[in-house]
Amino acid sequence: MKATEATDHYFNKAADRLALPVWMRKLLITPKREVTVQVACQMDDGRVDTFIGFRVQHDNSRGPMKGGLRYHPAVDLDEVRSLASLMTWKTAVVDIPYGGAKGGIGVDPRQLSRRELERLTRAFVDEIHDIIGPDTDIPAPDMGTTHEVMSWIRNQWEKYHGFNPAVITGKPVEEYGAKGREEATGRGVGILSVKLLKRLGFKPETCRTAIQGFGNVGSHAAKFLSEAAFPVVAVSDLSGCYYNPKGLDVLDIFRHTLNNKGSMAGYKNCEVLPADDLLKLEVELLIPAALGGVITAANIEQIQAKIIIEGANGPIFPDADEALFERGVVVLPDILANAGGVTVSYFEWVQNRQHYRWSLDRVRQELDHTMSEAFEHIWQQSLHHQVSLRTAAFMIAIQRVRRATELAGLAF
Ligand code: NAD
Repeated sequence: MKATEATDHYFNKAADRLALPVWMRKLLITPKREVTVQVACQMDDGRVDTFIGFRVQHDNSRGPMKGGLRYHPAVDLDEVRSLASLMTWKTAVVDIPYGGAKGGIGVDPRQLSRRELERLTRAFVDEIHDIIGPDTDIPAPDMGTTHEVMSWIRNQWEKYHGFNPAVITGKPVEEYGAKGREEATGRGVGILSVKLLKRLGFKPETCRTAIQGFGNVGSHAAKFLSEAAFPVVAVSDLSGCYYNPKGLDVLDIFRHTLNNKGSMAGYKNCEVLPADDLLKLEVELLIPAALGGVITAANIEQIQAKIIIEGANGPIFPDADEALFERGVVVLPDILANAGGVTVSYFEWVQNRQHYRWSLDRVRQELDHTMSEAFEHIWQQSLHHQVSLRTAAFMIAIQRVRRATELAGLAF
């Protein structure tokens, strides 16, 4: 199934509940603009390699468009289109004044040297600088991009347009970044795990947790949850699944990855299983925080978790989502679960525009407030309409975007 089909399916399910007219569905679901660019980059050995870059701007009825940049070999227009649409619904769910966008380059950043990565990034900005900006479309990090990449983007964009750090978020803290941005998505996943588990009557100490992916989202979610007394029994990355039924020492793994280019490879203080085994473990809470499309009809029978919190974007395909709902598995959807990142990106943008800096405490407090309010709203909506948390979240998001679209006027 294509990523866009999955996103559109979830949109339409909620639109059905809202009895949204067909013309309004078409208006809300169609991206405003899709840009595909050639990105030519000189490699260290002197040859020129050519990559394809994308930026999809989905909707701006609630504010400037916002969304990450992904560097990954699987990046294509369909994936970016689906992720841009998810950003529209995500920013609406947490009610921050943004629309949705997404971008990326089909490249494996691990195969490039640091200087090649910088040249590639600057070449990409040369192609898209006139369609991004602090009041139009504000990129941010996603899979395969770091705060250093954000710094290069800002620097290259400012060569054309002058000083304005609000053009991009996820910057290093010492370069107009926000304290707490790096941990924000994982922390948001952690905050909502605590809230959801409490609602469902679980105690953290009895909630065995498995987390797929130990990158930005997975590692910070693991840290937050182990500090909140959840036994994190398994974490995985490309190198394998690291498992201890009594609970892993997450900080010890953190330290190992810091000295090992972010990878858990070679970590020895636990059992090591094939990476894919993580999804099949007997746990209460499963957090896919790596790739999209990892839980599908093909492996649904092997999933034993009672609760799934989508740290990654689009990890569950619709056929599996239906089956999980029928089995009573509670799924907290990506458009709420991983919205902590874009929320703190918004705080970063606000600080940049005010030339003012918030303390880490303030960032964390405001994040907690925004995520908790959105969670309560969706929880109540799901109870009231007897729908899944995903459908409830989409219903709230669609209503907000629809309202903004109507208020702006429909005489095109
Ligand atoms: P990242 O590049 O920092 O980390 C990805 C991790 O997944 C790495 O540990 C990698 O080894 C692991 N991984 C890749 N393939 C795997 C596999 N087959 N099995 C197990 N592990 C595998 O990326 P990230 O920023 O943490 O993003 C992860 C997901 O979260 C993506 O879907 C992204 O769109 C989503 N997301 C990220 C943010 C953010 O602020 N970074 C915000 C919202 C959503």
